[in-house]
Amino acid sequence: MKRVLVANRGEIAVRIIEACRSCGVETVAVYSQADESSSHVWMADQAVRIGRPPASESYLCVNKLLHVALETGCDGLHPGYGFLSERSGFVDQCTAEGITFIGPTADHIRLMGDKAEARRTVTALGVPVVPGSEGAFSDIDEAYAVVQDIGFPLLIKARSGGGGRGMRVVEDISQFRSLFAQARSEAEAAFGDGELYLERYFQRIRHIEVQVFGDRHGNVSHLGERDCTLQRRHQKLLEETPSTVIDDSKRDSICNAAVAITRGINYEGAGTVEFIYDDLSGEFFFIEMKTRVQVEHTISEVVTGLALVGEQVLVAAGDPLSFAGKNPDREGHAIEFRINAEDPARDFLPSPGILKRWVPPQAEWIRFDSHVYQGYTIPPYYDSLLGKLIVRGRDRDEALERSRAALRAFEVQGVATTIPFHLRVIDHPDFISNQVHTRWVETELK
Ligand code: ADP
Ligand code: ADP
Ligand code: MG
Repeated sequence: MKRVLVANRGEIAVRIIEACRSCGVETVAVYSQADESSSHVWMADQAVRIGRPPASESYLCVNKLLHVALETGCDGLHPGYGFLSERSGFVDQCTAEGITFIGPTADHIRLMGDKAEARRTVTALGVPVVPGSEGAFSDIDEAYAVVQDIGFPLLIKARSGGGGRGMRVVEDISQFRSLFAQARSEAEAAFGDGELYLERYFQRIRHIEVQVFGDRHGNVSHLGERDCTLQRRHQKLLEETPSTVIDDSKRDSICNAAVAITRGINYEGAGTVEFIYDDLSGEFFFIEMKTRVQVEHTISEVVTGLALVGEQVLVAAGDPLSFAGKNPDREGHAIEFRINAEDPARDFLPSPGILKRWVPPQAEWIRFDSHVYQGYTIPPYYDSLLGKLIVRGRDRDEALERSRAALRAFEVQGVATTIPFHLRVIDHPDFISNQVHTRWVETELK
């Protein structure tokens, strides 16, 4: 691969450009009118403005992206996360133009993108899924007919969902019809698909996911797990690896289950198999597989010393994984803090504006991924992620100690960020003793 179109923005565009540069691959950035001053624009070898600020007129505009890719002689395209990264039809369009999509095949995206279908596939491979409905429904009466088998509380989820949207917790049967209707309209608006499925809802559960990788030569490896239990509205805020709530034998079971799924579908490229884990019973259940690079892939990079985006380029070009035949060793502990332009004191209200002061902490044990800088104006059109602060330590205690210092040293003026929230979390006894669950932020921290 010689030249890659970076079909994204923000910190992940920067990350892709850097990863391509270190494997000797050129990059072409695209940007909307609102992103003229984003650092991904000047970091790439070339940059092309593709349209007005709304994503539908820029980053989601398939024709423009393919046109730019062809005009600039790109032979590869990296979709990042969000935007077009999980659209199987887009992979087909790239392929038809002779451009290599850096990600899995269209069939893999289609299979795992339909989460009801994914549940069936994973069950057939012998991995436990969350007890729930067999298929998806758009008809309320059909769904209503199976709720008693699942029991309450239950979770209504969008078959094509993502980013924590299109989900509703139903406490008892009297709420079912109205919440189903709400979830259906939200899913239709967000994903263009109103089909919903049902799962038993676990009130105190952890989120543990496994980074997997496959290549077209049949090699499959895992790179260990990430604990992403700290969430708000089903969206991750802080992630760490390794998970300190599982022992080595549980870790092996979860990682092996993820590998069984990856191998069972002949998966190619980077993927993440997500599970929920019940620390009381020790049971884990598959929830979904993300067929792309994830926001939190960085902590796996830090503990393995590998470059996952570089590995994606390698595998897409048809080469075997650099670590084919083994599961890379992991060393130490890493924590990622999502630094969002949101005000934790005002229910995480987005806080666009100018970064009057912006001095991220620096140390040998800190990695900071970002597209912003002092003086940067945060546009109101896209997600609020300003950067990812990743802190490494020998163990969790050292990583937490260093995180405290790093978060305290982070200087920001002009906009509200999630830094004070993270400081509160890491000083909280429940978090220090690791007794949190996915609703802890909403129910206990408040
Ligand atoms: P998304 O595509 O939006 O990430 P997920 O299926 O991964 O959708 O669900 C998002 C989050 O919601 C999970 O990380 C987990 O915290 C929570 N969640 C999902 N399914 C369940 C469930 N059955 N019970 C309790 N929590 C769940
Ligand atoms: P991860 O599992 O990698 O942490 P997130 O769920 O936090 O992913 O999503 C990462 C980004 O992608 C967020 O900006 C989110 O809004 C966006 N995103 C995720 N899924 C979708 C989707 N199906 N459609 C549109 N945007 C999505
Ligand atoms: Mg998920």
